[in-house]
Amino acid sequence: MRIYIDRLKEGQENIFNESVDCSEIFDAEEVGVLVIEPVEVSFKAYLAGHELIIEWQFIKARCLVNCTVCNDKFNFQIEIQEGRHIEPLSSIRGAVFNPSSLVRELILLDIPSYAECKEGDCPERETLKRYIEKESYGSTT
Ligand SMILES: [Zn+2]
Repeated sequence: MRIYIDRLKEGQENIFNESVDCSEIFDAEEVGVLVIEPVEVSFKAYLAGHELIIEWQFIKARCLVNCTVCNDKFNFQIEIQEGRHIEPLSSIRGAVFNPSSLVRELILLDIPSYAECKEGDCPERETLKRYIEKESYGSTT
């Protein structure tokens, strides 16, 4: 996932639309633990004055998320639609910009703090509900 700044200086746009291996975006200990399967990344990059503009078309990733109810890990689809990142050229060292850390950050930010397995129908939910009801009943007496 590389953006060659020199090529963009001629007024070109860099269209990127590929499946990127998890290991190119995430740390080794996160691959297979936090994220599985390749990440689909689509963006358009171009220069505007002294800034590199990255327009995300979409980012799709499969993450392993803990169910808030039963705490089991399950497969959660992250889908980020559109967005824009502006990077000043002065902060880019060399002629190549690799946006993988930006993609990682966007994915991590999109992981919900509350997630339930089986598409919101966690089999443990009924058990937990009974437990909570019993608890609150116990505290009032
Ligand atoms: Zn669950």
